[in-house]
Amino acid sequence: MTFEEIAAALRGGAGLDDDRALNLAAGLEGLGVAVPADADLRALLTEIARLDEAVRAVQHDLEATGVPGRVTLTVPEWAPGWLRVTYGGRAASTGIALGQPGSLDQVTMDVADTAQAIIAEEVWTGWPTCPEHGFGLHVDKRAVWRCKGAEPHVVSRIGQLGEA
Ligand SMILES: [Zn+2]
Repeated sequence: MTFEEIAAALRGGAGLDDDRALNLAAGLEGLGVAVPADADLRALLTEIARLDEAVRAVQHDLEATGVPGRVTLTVPEWAPGWLRVTYGGRAASTGIALGQPGSLDQVTMDVADTAQAIIAEEVWTGWPTCPEHGFGLHVDKRAVWRCKGAEPHVVSRIGQLGEA
């Protein structure tokens, strides 16, 4: 099972009975994620679903701004309780610790912030930029992209760049 398959199963919306939760947890273990025996599997799976939603929001914004490549999550071999945002074969140097679930907004901010750093390194330019002013956009206290030009303003929610 790939991470994407697990995330898709979680999005499927079908109730997570014990068998299904165990099956998905086994899939995560197969990817190298440490699943503690005493973990609340549903909490862990909810966390994975949020991370996936955050990754897809950033992927949407990449595509909306014409930047190629895919943002994914990978499990570092040396730290199975962590996930790393990965883009273009490069993994972020800071990881996301599992077992500390935050709100979707918080998770989206973390993923976008991390992804932004590696994407900017890979494409050799600031990403994303304000369509109006050309300044780099920043994640700022909420799950939005904010332009910090002379008149700071919010350009969009993360995951909605390029949408009217
Ligand atoms: Zn602007």
